[in-house]
Amino acid sequence: MAFDYDLFVIGAGSGGVRAARFSAGFGARVAIAESRYLGGTCVNVGCVPKKLLVYGAHYSEDLEQAHAYGWTASAPTFDWPTLIANKNEEIQRLNGVYRSLLVKSGVKLFEGHARLVDPHTVEVNGERFTAEHILIATGTWPNVPDIPGKEHAITSNEVFFLGQLPKRVLVMGGGYIAVEFASIFNGLGARTTQIYRGELFLRGFDRSIREHLRDELTKKGLDLRFRTTIKRIDKQPDGSLSVTLDDGSTIETDLVMFATGRRPMVDNLGLENTGVTFNDDGFIRVDEHYVSTEPSILALGDVIGRVQLTPVATAEGMAVARRLFRPAEYRPVDYHGIPTAVFSLPHIGTVGLTEDQAVLAGHNITVYESRFGTLKLALTESNEKTFMRLIVDADTDKVLGVHMVGAEAGEIIQGMAVALKAGATKRVFDDTIGIHPTSAEEFVTMRTPIAA
Ligand code: FAD
Repeated sequence: MAFDYDLFVIGAGSGGVRAARFSAGFGARVAIAESRYLGGTCVNVGCVPKKLLVYGAHYSEDLEQAHAYGWTASAPTFDWPTLIANKNEEIQRLNGVYRSLLVKSGVKLFEGHARLVDPHTVEVNGERFTAEHILIATGTWPNVPDIPGKEHAITSNEVFFLGQLPKRVLVMGGGYIAVEFASIFNGLGARTTQIYRGELFLRGFDRSIREHLRDELTKKGLDLRFRTTIKRIDKQPDGSLSVTLDDGSTIETDLVMFATGRRPMVDNLGLENTGVTFNDDGFIRVDEHYVSTEPSILALGDVIGRVQLTPVATAEGMAVARRLFRPAEYRPVDYHGIPTAVFSLPHIGTVGLTEDQAVLAGHNITVYESRFGTLKLALTESNEKTFMRLIVDADTDKVLGVHMVGAEAGEIIQGMAVALKAGATKRVFDDTIGIHPTSAEEFVTMRTPIAA
């Protein structure tokens, strides 16, 4: 059968765009459909605008600390609409970059909602197209807990477009998105509370790192409340919100933001017309080549629920393009040692095993730690502490995990990830000359393990 396209991609986000562009570059006839925004979640309502808001929030500390370096300025004021307008302009520019990347690589772009009609047919804007392979890269969507008054709350989809900075904010959730937005609002001057039902946020990260971040955020005035959850939200006549917690206490606030997990975006996708099935967590089930239970349909990125990060989605997109259209260059995605950051204020950067994971995996470990005030803060009144940890296999000397809370943690840990990928031992770290004076040099000067 002659198909209209070799590959039809649904969703022009991180993974879909990468797969489409490279497939077209390898000579395939490729189409892509996008229903909302080019670049997907990351560019429009995720990583990029979030990081811009994080930069914006950090200026409050920078301005405060500048006094210690001799700078005086009239009392700084913050204007949220300016930040949002400038952010929107940058995102629009990026949307244009994505459009031209697709067009220049020869991908046919359809702007509209795509629906599967059968295992080889996609319908967009009333037109039907056939394809030998169809790739689902539709990402995820925020979960909203089913509680009375949930309609008064927002999610990360809306937070980037608020007209004004609320005076008081309540963020519910314990994952990285909740932690980051609590830091953003706190940094920008809103009285911020974060509520999480677990005993400590950021499950899955190194325990000492989580505890250190908790203490630093508390020092910065964030009201952290664990082991509690929201029972109901009531709108008051003056427009404010009264939030009742499960212990019966109430919090008055101006904004409630839910960051309580994400579900795969498969709404009205027509999967019932195919043999695509879901795994136990509700994400699309695929094999090691991202092929679903319907052989002509592949899926990747957040919608398969493996590692929900942009660089992972793009790596998967690359792997799919190569396997289908340039098999000689195919390399599977290596899911080991994926570095990641939490852009709280201060940031977390992390790669490799946490202390608990290392012990659970049967390693006999040695842990090195350093906690210090950075040189930059020495002249200021800030008592923020940077914290670094190395988890080392005591038998092989291999460094298993590198973790940090502090300024530029993401920038620093990216390089550490290369060292871990190369199998660096603690001896290699010790033999590496530091760059002085930096915070990062601590990673190559830790000599004494902490007591077991
Ligand atoms: P997406 O980027 O979500 O793209 C899916 C696209 O499919 C969307 O554009 C959607 O409109 C489109 N679509 C859906 N259904 C259809 C349909 N039926 N027809 C046509 N189009 C459709 N990751 C990081 O690595 N670092 C970060 O700092 C980071 N921060 C984040 C902050 C937030 C607030 C959020 C929500 C996410 C963040 N992420 C971050 C995660 C990152 O955004 C995702 O991992 C990444 O976008 C996944 O890419 P994807 O291609 O799977 O899906």
